[in-house]
Amino acid sequence: MNIIIAPFVYIDGVFKKDVAVIFDDIIHDIVPAEEIPNIYHDAEIISLDSHCVLYPGFINSHVHLEFSSNTMTLDYGAFIPWLESVMSNRDVLAKKSDEKVMKNALKEMLQSGITTIGAISSFGGDLNVCAKTSQRVVYFNEVVGSNEAIVDVLFDSFNERFEASRKYNSERFQASVAIHSPYSVHPKLLKKAIDLAKKYKTPLSAHLLESRSEREWLDENSGGFRVFFEKLFGIKESVSDLKDFLEAFNQYPTLFVHATQIEKGELQILKDSHHFIAHCPRSNRLLGEERLKIEALEGIRYSLATDGKSSNWSLNIFDELRAALMLHSHLDLHQLSSALIRSITSNPAEALGLNCGIIAKEKFADFCVVELKDTPQKLEDIALWTILHVQNAKKVYIQGEQCV
Ligand SMILES: [Zn+2]
Repeated sequence: MNIIIAPFVYIDGVFKKDVAVIFDDIIHDIVPAEEIPNIYHDAEIISLDSHCVLYPGFINSHVHLEFSSNTMTLDYGAFIPWLESVMSNRDVLAKKSDEKVMKNALKEMLQSGITTIGAISSFGGDLNVCAKTSQRVVYFNEVVGSNEAIVDVLFDSFNERFEASRKYNSERFQASVAIHSPYSVHPKLLKKAIDLAKKYKTPLSAHLLESRSEREWLDENSGGFRVFFEKLFGIKESVSDLKDFLEAFNQYPTLFVHATQIEKGELQILKDSHHFIAHCPRSNRLLGEERLKIEALEGIRYSLATDGKSSNWSLNIFDELRAALMLHSHLDLHQLSSALIRSITSNPAEALGLNCGIIAKEKFADFCVVELKDTPQKLEDIALWTILHVQNAKKVYIQGEQCV
């Protein structure tokens, strides 16, 4: 048994002072530091110094590892030119994103206190590293394809990847299902993939309304996607109706990614079905898209995520937190800071059905210890000081094992 004695601990969305957390692979007890029960007299004690804060391990709910080699290859600034640059460079980038590159990406996340990732896998190139990493992985096999004539072929090849990943299922790895997007997945393929997620009760995720172009295409068969689809596939009309797409997820909680172009009626559908939104502010900014209006989400919970290096310069969660803090500049600074901490802990844990993300009895002992520049004067300021002053975690634990 181990005991971390911390001057500040993040519990139930607030910071508490002088707390002892007793754990092995799971958390057994949480008590005031001066009241550690005698039964734990032979436990190993880890005393944190006065500037340290104990958080649950952070969760990055949406990341693509297979393009981790990108730095300056892809075109930023507007969605369709970016997508075209992905199409023309994907083989080169995927080849360069070898195990070493992907391991470094995982390490970068771990060092910033990310103990769980939602990894979107386009073709299974990241399966080996994700199965071997010390982090908890929700492994999202992504399905894509809008050609009705080959729906069964597309599903079979997706299912093959899903089955290959299922072999690695464990306490730390879960084979799961992701839908590429409403504009790229035929309704019949969508239904088959959702049915698979339901059959195995896996987490489910889907890109949604990431760009203005997507909105124009789905609403009016116009805009940048009209040219894109006509040129590449000879398609002039969207295969999906947006409302039908959303309703296909009916009551199966799903993590919808981006949603920068979401409107009121669609938000209501998400709310009624208890869905979640993943918010990737740096990715949206770099692809020239609007800010997700987090103040207008009608109570739908969101998780902050880095997305992949195909649309970001780092996978460090503190970089993402700072960007979000600056981007939503009209929101109250302290309330936003608190909401952002929830968006990398309890919110994604619920969205992905994980037994972590909060410090509570019976949860996995996944922790991130951060060291502030000074001892905080007020408990209410700790979220803000963490976002402003931390670049990497001081210590990281996953299921009770120290990894950093
Ligand atoms: Zn994505």
